[in-house]
Amino acid sequence: MRGLWLLLVLVAAATAERQFIGDQVIRINAESEEQILLLQALETEETWELDFWVHPVSTELPVDIRVPSSSLSAVKEYLNAYNIPFSVMIANLQERLDEEKAEMLENNKRERSTKSFNFGAYHSVETIYSWMDTLVAQHPGLITKIEIGKSYENRPMYVLKFSTGGEKRPSIWIDTGIHSREWVSQATGVWTANKLATDFWTVPSLTTLLHKMDIYMLILANPDGYAYTHSNDRMWRKTRSKNSGSICRGVDPNRNWNAGFGGPGASKNPCSDSYHGPSPHSEIEVQNVVNLIRSHGNFKSFISIHAYSQLLMYPYGYNCRDVPDQPELDSVGRDAVQKLTSLYGTQYKVGSICKIIYQASGGSIDWSYNLGIKYSYAFELRDTGRYGFILPANQIIPTASETWLALKHLIEYVNDHPY
Ligand SMILES: [Zn+2]
Repeated sequence: MRGLWLLLVLVAAATAERQFIGDQVIRINAESEEQILLLQALETEETWELDFWVHPVSTELPVDIRVPSSSLSAVKEYLNAYNIPFSVMIANLQERLDEEKAEMLENNKRERSTKSFNFGAYHSVETIYSWMDTLVAQHPGLITKIEIGKSYENRPMYVLKFSTGGEKRPSIWIDTGIHSREWVSQATGVWTANKLATDFWTVPSLTTLLHKMDIYMLILANPDGYAYTHSNDRMWRKTRSKNSGSICRGVDPNRNWNAGFGGPGASKNPCSDSYHGPSPHSEIEVQNVVNLIRSHGNFKSFISIHAYSQLLMYPYGYNCRDVPDQPELDSVGRDAVQKLTSLYGTQYKVGSICKIIYQASGGSIDWSYNLGIKYSYAFELRDTGRYGFILPANQIIPTASETWLALKHLIEYVNDHPY
């Protein structure tokens, strides 16, 4: 083990990987609206460099903040001064990240020596892309790999298309990893693609379904960001594009869609993690998806998978009005979550983005809904904050397995309800 740690230190030094030594993730349970306002004031406090994992919105949801070690005493003093109760969820973030990296390196070694792919592990962009080729090769006549364009840093963006033929059949869209640090999302995408491929041949309902519909999966919706979380900064969420007039890079690709663009719940500040970008669809990664969806023209469902908080949400995020299909979206969502919960008892909340978390403009499922894709949903996968974005790899398969039950319900419902 000692050799491995030394190796880790050397690797980190060589790539100048960002360190989070002594950083803590603290959980705050605000007890009043006044306390929420005091927490919201922290969001614009730039000198403490706080990273909000869950934003302050209401007293119903706890707030999770990564606090750099240098700001810890100031933040705790602030909270104590206003009698805002908090607890430490992750006492030293770097230790968790080191464990995660060590586990990945060991898994890579095991995969190389056994020439196998472990679905219960986190993988790099390169490994996921080469696994895709294996999957496509194993399932000719079912899966094709489509390059929908290149990312800002010129990485190919691949969609896996599950289809048994036909032209522009009614289709389902599933994307994972638009926010790069939400690793269980991409890992769930990988597991789900494999599940679809293997179940297609053995589960009659899925065989029938894929003779009427196509499923499109974009597993690395933000490949540059994902690569960056492996090489430089595990906490990176945005794209990697350059912002003119700023030293800060990247746009929040889920604030960049042409749906309430630039409204509340997105930032004008290029240094913010929720920066909406200079214009709608400014990010090539978003534009590539928009082009595919528009030119196809027959998507019936658009599902975007994030982490964490255990939520299933439907439009809108950019305002709190009920969409015309609210009753149906809500009841289908509740049924899907019931299926999900049946496996391990994992609890989910269902509701519109605006009502269940916060007003957030420029989101992908608002855009798809306004385009006429009725069954537009967003998941926030496990957990509820014990590990947050650093969900242990041993939870990947359980997370993906339970999520599959919800996805399957949604897909079957869409198939049974043509419009
Ligand atoms: Zn997200």
